Amino acid sequence: MTTPDITPTSATGPLLEVTDLSVSFTAHKQTAKVVDQVSFSVQPGKTLGIVGESGSGKTVSSLALVGLLPRTANITGSARFAGQELVGMTTRQQRQIRGNDISVIFQEPMTSLDPVFTVGNQLTGAHRNHQGGSKKDALDRAEEMLRLVGIPEPRKRLAEYPHAFSGGMRQRVMIALALINSPRLLIADEPTTALDVTIQSQILELLQELQQAMGMAILFVTHDLGVVASVCDDVSVMYAGQVVEQAGIDEFFAHPRHPYSEGLLRSMPHSVPKGERLRMIPGTVPLPSRFPTSCRFAGRCPYAQEACTADPIPLEQLDDGRVVRCVRHRELVMEARS
Ligand code: SF4
Repeated sequence: MTTPDITPTSATGPLLEVTDLSVSFTAHKQTAKVVDQVSFSVQPGKTLGIVGESGSGKTVSSLALVGLLPRTANITGSARFAGQELVGMTTRQQRQIRGNDISVIFQEPMTSLDPVFTVGNQLTGAHRNHQGGSKKDALDRAEEMLRLVGIPEPRKRLAEYPHAFSGGMRQRVMIALALINSPRLLIADEPTTALDVTIQSQILELLQELQQAMGMAILFVTHDLGVVASVCDDVSVMYAGQVVEQAGIDEFFAHPRHPYSEGLLRSMPHSVPKGERLRMIPGTVPLPSRFPTSCRFAGRCPYAQEACTADPIPLEQLDDGRVVRCVRHRELVMEARS
């Protein structure tokens, strides 16, 4: 068995560097490219938000990194994690990294938790699978993790099954399970979407505290720009399988450069003065089989002109380090708020 060579990352280099990542699926002799040459990077200890509506390709991009897509997925490009290429790894190598150096949490905790095993069994199993060691060490670590994620009487609760926990507490158990081996990168795929607002902010706060304590990086996949604003350092906006804008969080919220970003920002509830209706982006993301060859957002864009529908639109790197995919970004003045 070849052991993945996870080398330390330099203080200045990214922990994860994704370059031209593409994912396509073939069914009934038709191939659909759902992720198209996506590039982004995550710095050690920082949080990158990947944002977009359903069908933007954000979840597929992140799951492609850790081998959680169906076997029918064809993945090309590069994703280097701490010096190790993730694309093309064997299933065995992916399992070694997943849950150890890279962990994943999902919207629904029961996708990670097994209802027929106690929480203690699942936590100690995850720890011993990767770290070895005695049962007692694993039990102590499991108790420590439940305490860290704010579960009262952790030793006692290790003996309980997931159904005995409330929705918010289950989310905490899932986080404990994901972080028990101190991963260097956490992929969080809409982890708070199913929770009510109060629990959502508690979980976000908890993730930030744990990030600081453990020094891990987070790839935060979400459709919610409010969440991006509260936890991310940088944002990558995806639309119809492509990155359309990337920026630091302050610059992005002050001055979006892509019309889709502007539309998302103006759809946020607090961006609308009291009494006014939310401004929605008309239409929906096209199906992958119908992605236009020119600007994929043109059918929904209020600024579309003939030039937008002639050729593929390149991703342009700007002087300030931002990237944007829009032929009119220099002339348009985007509004972040109403
Ligand atoms: S290229 Fe044209 S249609 Fe596409 S986002 Fe820019 S202005 Fe809108």
